[in-house]
Amino acid sequence: MKIICVGRNYAEHAKELKNEVPSAPVLFMKPKTAILLPGKAFYYPEFTKDLHYECELVVRISSNGKHIQEKFAHKYYDSVTLGIDFTARDLQQEQKKKGLPWEIAKAFDGSAAVGSFIPLKEGIDINNITFQLDKNGEAVQNGNTADMIFTVNHLIAYISTFFTLNIGDYIFTGTPAGVGPVHINDRLEGHMFGEKVLDVAIL
Ligand code: MG
Repeated sequence: MKIICVGRNYAEHAKELKNEVPSAPVLFMKPKTAILLPGKAFYYPEFTKDLHYECELVVRISSNGKHIQEKFAHKYYDSVTLGIDFTARDLQQEQKKKGLPWEIAKAFDGSAAVGSFIPLKEGIDINNITFQLDKNGEAVQNGNTADMIFTVNHLIAYISTFFTLNIGDYIFTGTPAGVGPVHINDRLEGHMFGEKVLDVAIL
């Protein structure tokens, strides 16, 4: 399986990091070893002094596909959850300055925390899902998929132009504004559809 991540998919977040709003989706990948399963603690890595959370809607692919048309993209996923795209912001800034790839800042072990997947029932509009991230019990990110620059279905069409999507792949669809640092002993909790779907302790 693979994890495909989208950068700068919410205009307010692009602004807070002083990035331009992109004209095409910005993609990067994380390996399978990046997954942090529900219930597992995250251990603060020794190679960063500025670890950030980025809470994102995560879509699970349920059919194999290549060159998927946007109008059929909804047939290729069946469940969603919230995830944290953990980012070593200090390393990322250094890499960006040098024009080098981001992997050491974003694709390290445990950097893709995922919550419990919720099946998409009839009537759920993928383009209008509200979600919230709490840090130590206080809301730090409030998102709605309506604010995405590129919709989930557009992303699937675009991604599948380059990469065959396989059953079980995850797509991290980008973070809304409000990203920030985490520290040892912090706790991140993600809420969607009126329930807590994500709970990560930082140790
Ligand atoms: Mg992200």
